[in-house]
Amino acid sequence: MKTIETDYLIIGAGAMGMAFVDVLLRETSATFVIVDKYDQPGGHWNTAYPFVRLHQPSEFYGVASKALGARHIDKVGWNAGLYELASVGEVCAYFDQVMQQQFLPSGRVTFLPMSEYRGNGRVVSLVSGEQIDVAARRTVDATYMRVTVPSMREPPYAVDEGVVCIPPNELPKRAAHFHGYTVVGAGKTGMDACLWLLKQGVDPGRITWITPRDSWLVDRGLTQPAEQFAESTRAVMAGQMQAISSATSVSDLMKRINGCGRLLKLERADIPTMYRCATVSKAEIEQLQRIENVVRLGRVRRIRRDEILLDAGAIATDPQTLFVDCTADGLEKRPIVPVFSDSRITLQALRSCQQVFSAALIAHIEAAYEEEDRKNDLATPVPHPDTDVDFLRVTIANAQNQIKWDSDPALREWLSQCRLDMWGKLMPVPLGQSPQDDALRASRRAAAEAMCRKLDELLGSES
Ligand SMILES: Cc1cc2nc3c(=O)[nH]c(=O)nc-3n(C[C@H](O)[C@H](O)[C@H](O)COP(=O)(O)OP(=O)(O)OC[C@H]3O[C@@H](n4cnc5c(N)ncnc54)[C@H](O)[C@@H]3O)c2cc1C
Repeated sequence: MKTIETDYLIIGAGAMGMAFVDVLLRETSATFVIVDKYDQPGGHWNTAYPFVRLHQPSEFYGVASKALGARHIDKVGWNAGLYELASVGEVCAYFDQVMQQQFLPSGRVTFLPMSEYRGNGRVVSLVSGEQIDVAARRTVDATYMRVTVPSMREPPYAVDEGVVCIPPNELPKRAAHFHGYTVVGAGKTGMDACLWLLKQGVDPGRITWITPRDSWLVDRGLTQPAEQFAESTRAVMAGQMQAISSATSVSDLMKRINGCGRLLKLERADIPTMYRCATVSKAEIEQLQRIENVVRLGRVRRIRRDEILLDAGAIATDPQTLFVDCTADGLEKRPIVPVFSDSRITLQALRSCQQVFSAALIAHIEAAYEEEDRKNDLATPVPHPDTDVDFLRVTIANAQNQIKWDSDPALREWLSQCRLDMWGKLMPVPLGQSPQDDALRASRRAAAEAMCRKLDELLGSES
């Protein structure tokens, strides 16, 4: 049996594993073994549907040391006027380049593709069956977020014989010759499938959209990497502060948050109960609003040739309908575990829905700080949100982390240089030591603390 000695064993070459290694490669002289079941880095992007794009600008995605995209502003399509969104092909090619042109030539990274980590340092090739023991100083779990896309599993409801139900991956290949289309799932993948059909010129009357819950949506216009957008983003964030200070209950808060433009919703939707960071442009919202056959009867239980059985009722269908299963729970709400625990590092989000930024920051904390308690204090996980109430929880957790990071001058400086720090670019923290900078930081901190107290109160009144 072959044994490899290394400083870090990374389980998973997805975006988080790659963003983590990238920072440690630059900030330490450590060595790395990266293991992945796929034959290419990039994780779930290797199995993504062909028309998926990043939901947020390319500018803030990937690894910190290499730009993704060319800071292009889209001129056409429903993202026109906003910064480019890498396609799945670009994302996969990008991670391949990072591996081939940066990681492997460093001589400090060993990549074991098509290999499964089986615990206790044991790695098994899924092709040859060869077993390798990796003796590592630290093991990094870059699989904990458990990203699942529809093509990875069967639909979680019964599908009778004669019904055509496909993951979105097959949509371009199978879409022709159906009279109707039923998209199952209210999340971003469901939205993408609806938008793809509309883009092909399908009459919205031929689309049925099954949405067990309505979703709060993030306006992509608020996540843009340039000063001309930052002003309006700051105005909306000021509106959010105002909304929080005036709110009398969680539902009142969500209405106010919607009113100031911080979160959007489809016009026909009731007050949504789902919040999972789905990010869309206003033009995409307009398109989605063209679909009027929206079914809100809970989750699908079974699809028969002539009817769909749902939690709260049944609706008619026919065999000439193509069903697109978009129900996978892309990002689960995982229990929090300490990021640093003895020789194990478990990568998790430190800012909600900013996984690559979080992985890069965890790597920097690993390189720059000694004590495990201090590291964990700076790396408090923020679990992925699922509900409207989670919006409050992650807003508190994000703010508490930011307060800690802003209080550490060296970390402040590091964050200001980190290309993946989207919010840092939109809401920059003063870096200097002048009394004015100190005062500005103190007032920001006081405002953030007051906001957390108010959100805690609202959460308390809810329970
Ligand atoms: C459709 C979609 C669009 C998104 N768009 C954005 C966006 O625009 N911006 C943004 O910031 N985030 C976005 N996200 C969030 C996105 O999930 C993360 O940014 C990131 O890609 C997740 O990467 P990961 O490394 O955590 O997980 P994964 O991509 O799932 O990587 C984990 C890897 O671990 C491997 N693995 C698992 N178990 C083992 C084992 N035992 N042995 C060996 N290997 C193993 C898997 O093969 C996989 O390659 C999007 C997510 C989805 C689903």
